[in-house]
Amino acid sequence: MTDTIDMANMLFENISLTPEDYEKKYPARNLKEGTVVTRFAPSPTGLLHFGGLFAAFIGRIAASDGVFYLRIEDTDKKREIENGVQMIIDGLNAFGINIDEGVVSRNEEKGEYGPYTQSKRTEIYQAFVKRLVEQGLAYPCFMTEEEIAEIRKAQEEEKLLPGIYGEYAKYRDITAGEAKRLIDEGREYVVRLKSPGRPGGRIKFKDMIKGDIEMDENILDVVLLKKDGTPTYHFAHAVDDHLMRTTHVIRGDEWISSVPIHLQLFRVCGFKPVKYVHISPILKEENGGKRKLSKRKNPEAALSYYEEQGYPKGAVWEYLLTLANSNYEEWRKCNRGADTGKFPFSFTKMSKAGALFDLAKLNDISKTYISTLNAEEVFDMAAKWAKEYDNDLYSLLAEDEEYALAIFAIERGGKKPRKDIAKWTDVRDYIAYFYSELWNRQRDFAENVPNDEIVKILTRYTEIYDPDGAPEDWFPAVRQMSVDLGYAASPKEYKASPEDYKGHVGDVSGVIRAAVTGRRNTPDLYEIMQVLGGTETLRRIDEAIENIK
Ligand code: GLU
Repeated sequence: MTDTIDMANMLFENISLTPEDYEKKYPARNLKEGTVVTRFAPSPTGLLHFGGLFAAFIGRIAASDGVFYLRIEDTDKKREIENGVQMIIDGLNAFGINIDEGVVSRNEEKGEYGPYTQSKRTEIYQAFVKRLVEQGLAYPCFMTEEEIAEIRKAQEEEKLLPGIYGEYAKYRDITAGEAKRLIDEGREYVVRLKSPGRPGGRIKFKDMIKGDIEMDENILDVVLLKKDGTPTYHFAHAVDDHLMRTTHVIRGDEWISSVPIHLQLFRVCGFKPVKYVHISPILKEENGGKRKLSKRKNPEAALSYYEEQGYPKGAVWEYLLTLANSNYEEWRKCNRGADTGKFPFSFTKMSKAGALFDLAKLNDISKTYISTLNAEEVFDMAAKWAKEYDNDLYSLLAEDEEYALAIFAIERGGKKPRKDIAKWTDVRDYIAYFYSELWNRQRDFAENVPNDEIVKILTRYTEIYDPDGAPEDWFPAVRQMSVDLGYAASPKEYKASPEDYKGHVGDVSGVIRAAVTGRRNTPDLYEIMQVLGGTETLRRIDEAIENIK
């Protein structure tokens, strides 16, 4: 025992604070029993992708009444990319994922449990490793890269578990004296766990999503501190999540295989284990099968996609909820207009197999979301997006705000608002026929009405069209005109005896619609003509007649 204490003092002579000091410095949080404290703990080694965002989102909503913090795991300085931290923060902000604590900007943190950046916590990790060395639960290992490579090769050939354990753990029982001699010789070392795992032993734990899991116990003498004295991911995870008083570790399920190491580390350090929540990857349907959402193949895997396409934050938020819990949509139907924060999210309702990413569904949800916004909100959001991504569109919208607002107000605000816009990239096409700069003046008349009939219908319409007419008079007038021209007053009447008519009122209004807007499908034609005004409406009808003649 004294030897291990000598060893600890020799290896960590500058470490004076003890685990007890840190326990005191970071006391248990004063929260109601059952409150979730969780974190998003990315490494700033690349762009944040959809899978990462989803994990952060789950953390945020799981801790809606608790604490959700951002920890930066930057122990691998070689892989860190420039602006990596800022990009993570920007990514979370862009999707409205707020943090309660942790890293808020590149140089700023908030909260009582920091630092929240691992590279600033080296002394803390070392204090805990020092204690393990004192207790004979960790030791310095002087094996060279070459030695380790040779061991791996031999293990591979013999189909043995790769790694340093049992007979391969050459320095397991090294004395303080020997270690000092090697250090004085200038030899480099790492500090390894002296794993208490038994070969053939099994461990059980409960994953909050996947349920009961049984795995081989860890027998590897895993590295705790690297040669430069910084911790490995595994060790930093145990120390940080303990000291930051995390209750739930939410992360991608690629980490499940490391749980035996993690639980062992919690145990040797005397920490209460956290609850694990391992999220299955988001899947994509392809050729009848399913595979992981791929950064290479799926543009929607990149976070920039949502911003560029112009999906409103609130819509993406709802979509993420449908991916999180499949009962969300049912809840939404029964709770229209309710704040999404009221949805009772649960880990157990998350997909074990992996939620399926479905762009059509995102579009649907976004259409419904945008349909609930008022004209001003649509204008503001569309204009803000256009300013960034479609300058010409922005100029048109900004040029005559009132006109644009009138367009966005069409069939909006009523009981059954139209769902035409899924994302701001749709706006250009949606409003095209209101702007001479955007409209190509092509008219898509239905094939079933011959040209001479089109001319007749349009000519008659110019005679009865009243730019100041009331909305309730509009359709009856078109109906009357249809009857006068030999069309049935309703599709039903037409169906009953098609031989008696040239068509029905729908064909007639379709001709007017195509003449005025170019399209077969639009929102309410009366409202459109009101926005265009009498002069422009008549000009368009005359132009259509002219073109046909
Ligand atoms: N730094 C790890 C990663 O980026 C975090 C895993 C975890 O959440 O524990 O994957």
